[in-house]
Amino acid sequence: MTSTLIDGKSFSSGVRGRVASGVAGLAARGIVPGLAVVLVGEDPASEVYVRNKGIQTREAGMASWEHKLPAETGQAELLALVGKLNADPAVHGILVQLPLPAHMDAEAVINAIDPAKDVDGFHILNVGLLGTGQKSMVPCTPLGCLLMLRDRLGDLSGLNAVVVGRSNIVGKPMAQLLLGESCTVTIAHSRTKNLAEVCRSADILVAAVGRPRMIPGDWVKPGATVIDVGINRIEEDGRTRLVGDVDFDSAARVAGAITPVPGGVGPMTIACLLANTLTACCRANGLPDPELVG
Ligand code: NDP
Repeated sequence: MTSTLIDGKSFSSGVRGRVASGVAGLAARGIVPGLAVVLVGEDPASEVYVRNKGIQTREAGMASWEHKLPAETGQAELLALVGKLNADPAVHGILVQLPLPAHMDAEAVINAIDPAKDVDGFHILNVGLLGTGQKSMVPCTPLGCLLMLRDRLGDLSGLNAVVVGRSNIVGKPMAQLLLGESCTVTIAHSRTKNLAEVCRSADILVAAVGRPRMIPGDWVKPGATVIDVGINRIEEDGRTRLVGDVDFDSAARVAGAITPVPGGVGPMTIACLLANTLTACCRANGLPDPELVG
């Protein structure tokens, strides 16, 4: 079997287009969604992410603010900035780029963000709302995965879903979302026994581990839909490459559909950040949530 490629680049450009239309619709009412991103320190990867977020936010027609603070900034100073952004009606979304420097309490900072502006969906209130199936801000990467799965498979109910990885930012919210779609969900992790067998039971296999090509094709059920969240930088054939947690070549021979790395889940994450900012803005103005896919 040769699988269908789930093209995250093209799918995310559709989502960004819908967000841009939603933003244009709000402009007619004099409303401009705004996203504030806070970066503490000079981590080069974080700087690239923050720059890209700013560019795409502006491209979607939203207001964008970048607050860059030195690595030695104190927690109180960061909390004061978060407080200021919470109180600013022009700011609908606040994202504090993680990881924060080691001297800071990341949980306290995230939980200081107004939950209605928590476009990363990491605030404990949003975690609880998602866990209890209530309306929340949903973390961007799992939301992107879900949108691609719905687009590919339509109704997900009754399907066996295996999520490999149980982090708070990907694995757990992904599992909650799939449960919300009435999948039968298994969460696997580093202590899981017979991981190969567990993976082989999956109609939907989501890999969010951080280990290059850990999941080979013979762990994939024929026809399964494989979503590879992993982003791993490896040296191969004398050059640096980005690869996923799934061994793409062997898995693509077995799966029904599969996301590539790069060009799969990655582009959906920023698209969903923009979507969450638009959603937060609509909610702040008493408007219905926007439709993100056609
Ligand atoms: P974490 O390191 O926080 O979590 C990794 C998870 O994988 C843990 O639950 C861990 O289990 C599990 N794990 C580790 N080794 C094994 C193993 N041998 N077998 C089974 N499970 C294992 O990572 P994240 O969730 O933050 O990220 C996962 C990957 O996704 C990374 O490559 C990251 O770069 C990528 N990522 C991509 C994004 C995107 O936009 N595409 C966004 C966010 C992340 P345990 O809990 O037992 O330790």
